Amino acid sequence: MIRERAYPVEPWHVRETRLDMDVLAQSESVFALSNGHVGLRGNLDEGEPHGLPGTYLNSFYELRPLPYAEAGFGFPESGQTIVNVTNGKLIRLLVDDEPLDVRYGELLAHERVLDLRAGTLHRELHWRSPAGREVKVRSTRLVSFTQRAVAAINYEVEAVDGPMRLILQSELVANEALPPQSRDPRVAAVLESPLQAEEELTTADGGLLIHRTKVSGLRVAAAMEHEVYAPARKSIQSEGYEDWVRTTIGCVLQPGETLRVVKYLAYGWSSRRSLPAMRDQVEAALTGARLDGWDGLRREQREYLEEFWDAADVVVEGDPEIQQAVRFGMFHVLQAGSRAERRPIAAKGLTGPGYDGHAFWDTEMFVLPVLTYTHPAAVRDALHWRHATLAAAHERARTLNLEGAAFPWRTIEGPESSGYWPAGTAAFHIAAGIADALRRYVQVTQDTELEREIGLELLVETARLWRSLGHHDRHGQFHIDGVTGPDEYTAVKNDNIYTNLMAQRNLIAAADAVMRYRDEAFHLGVTDEEAAAWRDAAAAMHIPYDEEIDVHEQVEGFTRLQEWDFGHTPPEKYPLLLHYPYFDLYRKQVVKQADLVLAMHWRGDAFTPEQKLRNFLYYERRTVRDSSLSACTQAVLAAEVGHPELAHIYLREAALMDLHDLNENTRDGVHMASLAGAWIALVAGFGGLRDHDGNLSFAPRLSSRLERLEFSLQWRGMRLRVDVRPHETTYALRRGDPGDVLELRHHGEPVRVTCGKPVTMPIPPAEVSGPVPEQAPGRAPLLRLPENEP
Ligand code: BGC
Repeated sequence: MIRERAYPVEPWHVRETRLDMDVLAQSESVFALSNGHVGLRGNLDEGEPHGLPGTYLNSFYELRPLPYAEAGFGFPESGQTIVNVTNGKLIRLLVDDEPLDVRYGELLAHERVLDLRAGTLHRELHWRSPAGREVKVRSTRLVSFTQRAVAAINYEVEAVDGPMRLILQSELVANEALPPQSRDPRVAAVLESPLQAEEELTTADGGLLIHRTKVSGLRVAAAMEHEVYAPARKSIQSEGYEDWVRTTIGCVLQPGETLRVVKYLAYGWSSRRSLPAMRDQVEAALTGARLDGWDGLRREQREYLEEFWDAADVVVEGDPEIQQAVRFGMFHVLQAGSRAERRPIAAKGLTGPGYDGHAFWDTEMFVLPVLTYTHPAAVRDALHWRHATLAAAHERARTLNLEGAAFPWRTIEGPESSGYWPAGTAAFHIAAGIADALRRYVQVTQDTELEREIGLELLVETARLWRSLGHHDRHGQFHIDGVTGPDEYTAVKNDNIYTNLMAQRNLIAAADAVMRYRDEAFHLGVTDEEAAAWRDAAAAMHIPYDEEIDVHEQVEGFTRLQEWDFGHTPPEKYPLLLHYPYFDLYRKQVVKQADLVLAMHWRGDAFTPEQKLRNFLYYERRTVRDSSLSACTQAVLAAEVGHPELAHIYLREAALMDLHDLNENTRDGVHMASLAGAWIALVAGFGGLRDHDGNLSFAPRLSSRLERLEFSLQWRGMRLRVDVRPHETTYALRRGDPGDVLELRHHGEPVRVTCGKPVTMPIPPAEVSGPVPEQAPGRAPLLRLPENEP
C-alpha cells in the first residue's frame, strides 16, 4: 500500500515528485497511457529500471493450455492471455559514453506528471553522470485518442554543463524478458518469447518489426520514425535484427544547448491481414502522425479531452483528494473504452497484465453505466463487441446443455477462459449484466438502430438462457438453481437474489423488445408462446426472504448457514481466498463483495426502504470487501439508507484504490471497475441517480464534509447538469434545443427542466436512519474521512 500520500493533491494532475523504486511497478500502472486500442505502461523512457514492462494491444493475445488436475466435461481447454508486444517506448541515452540510468550517478531531480486535460505523461529529470556530466531530460508521451494506432514521444536533452557527446538510441524491441507470469511450466513455455519474427525493416530515421504469435496466429506490426532537431551537426542511422530495430542519433552539445527528438510510433495487428498489408498499415499510420506533427497530435489530444470533460467532469468540493481521484478514474475509464471499437474493455484496461487482460462483468456493470451517461459512443462499441462474441456464447450454451447464449465469465476473444467453473461458468449473472447495459444505453441514447440491429438478439438470447437455466416448481415459482452470484465466497447455490432480479428484468426487457420488433423477432424464431413464457418466469421469480429475522437471503438458505469466525481470523489472513479453502468459505456466512447490496442498487425498485436498511445492516456485518468491486456499491447503499458519512468513507476506498494502492496489486494494472465506481459512488450515492423505469430520478444528499457535487449526464441528446449543495440542488439543461424538456424526479417529486431555465429544489431533511452499521469484525473501512479544513 502507498501509505504516505504518494501524489500531491491537485485537481487536474497526478504528479510524482520523486522516483520511488519501491513503488515503480504501481506507478507504471497509474501512469499508463492508452486509448483502448494501444496501451503503454508508464515505464521509464530508458527501459530500466522497471517494475513490469508493458505494451498492449486490445485483443492481441496468445492461447495457453488451461491445466486441470482433474478435468471434467465442458471445462474450457485453453485460455487467452494478453501479450506484451513490441516495446516502442524505449529511448536510451548515453552521455559521454555513460548510459543514463537513474540507479547510477546522481538523480538531482525527477518528476512525472499525468495531465488529465492534455492527455500526456510528462517527465523531467536532472541527472549527473558518475563522470560528473549534467543533463536535463524532458519527455512527453501520448497515446493518441484521435489517431488510434499512434503514440508519440517528444524527447529533449539539455546539456547543463559541457560540451558533451550525446548518443540517443531509440528502439523497437520484441520479446522483452518479463518477470515469470505463471508457475506452470506448460503455460510459461507458451508465454515466454511469444512473438515469432516475420520481418524487420530499417530506413534512415526509423524502421519496423512484424511478428506473429505461435498458437493464436495473430500478426503484429510496430513501426517508428523520428524527427531530429539538433543545434549542431548530427548523425542518424538505423539497424535491425529479428527482435529489435534501433535508430541511433549522435551529436555534440554545448552547455545550454538542447537536442530534441520526436518519436512517432504506430501499431497494427490482425488475425487475417497479410504481412504486406500490415506493413502498409503501420507506415500509413506513421504518415498520418507526421502529417499532424507533434504539435498537431497534442492539440487534437487536448481538444478531444476538452469535449470529454465538458460532458463528463465531476466537480467535488470539500474533499480535494476525491476531486483528483474521480478525474483520474474517469480518465482511465475513458482511456480503456474510447477507441476500443468493438473490442473488449478489460478489467485492467490496457494498463497491465492483471487477470490475463480479460474482460469480466466489470465492463457491463461498472464501466458501461458510467460511460453511458458520459461517453455513450464507447458503450455502443462495447455492446457490438459482446454481440460479435455471440457465436462462442451459443456454443458454450450448447456444451452446457442450455438454450440461448452463455457468455464467458472471463475472456478476450469470446470463448470462456476461466478454468474454475464455480466462480466462472456458474456466474451466469454476466448475461443479465449485458442485457442491463444494453437496456440502459438504449434508454439514455434512444439509439433504436442499435437496438434493432444487435440489441434485440442479445436480449432474446440471454432470455432464452434464463428460461432454460431456471425452472418452475410445483407451485409455479421460478427458480434459478446452482449458480454463483457476485459474491464469490458463496458459490453454486440456489436462487441468488441478484441473479434472479437481474434475470427478471432481462426476461421482461426481452419480451418487451419482441413487441417492438416483431419482424426481427420472427426471424430469430421467437414465438408468442416463448415470449409469454419469459414473462411468466419473470412474474414467478422466487425471491428468498427470511421471515424470522426479516432480511432477504442472498441465496436460498443463506441466513441459516454457520457464521464465519471473524474473532479468529487475523488481519494477515485477508483476502480469505488466499488462506482458506473455498470449501470452507462456501459453507459459511461470509461475503466477498456486495451481492445482495448490489441488487439493492441496480434493482432498488424491488425492495422497500425498510428492507434496504435492514438488509444493509445485516450484510454489512458479513462483507469482507476482498474484491475492489465492493466499496463503491456499499457507498451507494450507505447513502441511500441514511449513512452519508459511511458512504463517504467507502467512496474514498473505491476512488483511491489505485492512487493509494489499497489492495497492494496496482502493479498488475489499475482497477477499472473501482475507478468507475468512484463516479458511481458520487453520482448514484450522493446524487441518488436511479434509472429503473426508463426515467431519471435523483435523491441528492451530501455527506457533512462535502460542500458541493456537480456532475453532467447525457440524456437523449440533451446534457443535464446537476449541482448539489448541502440544502438544495439545481438542475439545468445545457446544449439542448430551446423546446427541449427533461422530466425527472427529485426525492420523488416530479420536476420539469427546460433549456435556459434551471430549476432549484430544496433537499428534504434526512430521516433518522436507525442503528449505525457495523462492519465484519476486523474489516473496518480502509480509509478515514478527510481531515476538516482548519
Ligand atoms: C471479483 C469479480 C471480478 C474480478 C475481476 C474478482 O476478484 O470477485 O467480481 O469480476 O475480480 O475484476
